[in-house]
Amino acid sequence: MHGLRRDYRRPCGCDRGRFGAQERGRGVKVLTPSTVQEAAAMLSEAGGQATLLGGTTDLFVHWPERMLDADGVFIDLSGVGALRAHRWEDEALVLGGLTTFWDIIQDERADREMPVLVQAARTVGAVQIQTRGTWAGNIANASPAADGVAALMVRDAVVELTSCDGIETIRLDEFYLGYKQMRLRRDQIITSIRVPRQSCSVERFIKVGTRQAQAISKIGVAIAQSQAGWRIVANSVAPAVCRCRTVERALDDRVPLPHVDALVELLGSDVSPIDDIRSTAAYRRGVLARVLYHELAPLCEWVGPQRGAS
Ligand SMILES: Cc1cc2nc3c(=O)[nH]c(=O)nc-3n(C[C@H](O)[C@H](O)[C@H](O)COP(=O)(O)OP(=O)(O)OC[C@H]3O[C@@H](n4cnc5c(N)ncnc54)[C@H](O)[C@@H]3O)c2cc1C
Repeated sequence: MHGLRRDYRRPCGCDRGRFGAQERGRGVKVLTPSTVQEAAAMLSEAGGQATLLGGTTDLFVHWPERMLDADGVFIDLSGVGALRAHRWEDEALVLGGLTTFWDIIQDERADREMPVLVQAARTVGAVQIQTRGTWAGNIANASPAADGVAALMVRDAVVELTSCDGIETIRLDEFYLGYKQMRLRRDQIITSIRVPRQSCSVERFIKVGTRQAQAISKIGVAIAQSQAGWRIVANSVAPAVCRCRTVERALDDRVPLPHVDALVELLGSDVSPIDDIRSTAAYRRGVLARVLYHELAPLCEWVGPQRGAS
């Protein structure tokens, strides 16, 4: 009526079931584990049919329109205390499966040692989303526009996946296989994300959107340089967040890049942007190249107009 959505709410029962499960309504079953082992057992028992709930900032966006799809088993991770905290180890910052963007924004050490994480976290939605949204949810949602993923990937982060079969680790830059496709089985939970503590001489995240907050990126790019070499990671320009390996190689080899067109050409091998509601492929390609050129020219003597002159 008058364009209003139907009220899809159902009576909300709260019967305690197995593992302390709560059933709300007839079609939706919400399980509430308190340990990783319990959560993994529930996932396994559901035979790949259960959905994990993190901060739910992505999942609940679709909830009213897709109520029928939403019917099923949900495993609410919020009671798994072991997943929440992040910690600093000698070799890595370890984010938990429930660590939020806000947790990292609030950590002064992260601002000092890994500013790219804080810069990216601050661009995610606005404070409300930053306090609920998790880094793990950002990874598992697999959006090509994921800002957190770009910042983690530029720092060579490694994802830890836990299931009843054990623990598997995968580099984030090898995690995505295509649009919304990733090396995450339905019975696996992202239990932590290890971000190596190698020191970077350069690290930053730049996002181009329609405004400063609550904007999904038209393009985003994370840049880092460490002993491992240059890392350039872009979002919103490919089916998944991706490293721009051709550009990275050119920077490592100090190939002269006298003009922005040289970067446009290199990026042709790395990205495949599309036209969509937020932007066009041509705009994305051109702006990504210009942002990179603008950022790199003051840092690299081989990038800029005078550099390519013979
Ligand atoms: C208004 C608004 C603005 C936003 N702005 C941005 C933005 O600027 N940049 C950006 O990148 N994103 C943005 N988002 C998207 C979202 O906030 C992020 O992707 C967030 O990181 C998702 O985390 P979550 O914990 O809320 O995930 P959820 O919604 O709980 O889950 C997302 C997916 O991940 C799975 N999942 C969650 N936790 C785990 C786990 N531990 N292991 C395995 N799978 C898991 C879920 O099953 C689901 O498939 C925005 C969302 C909204 C609503």
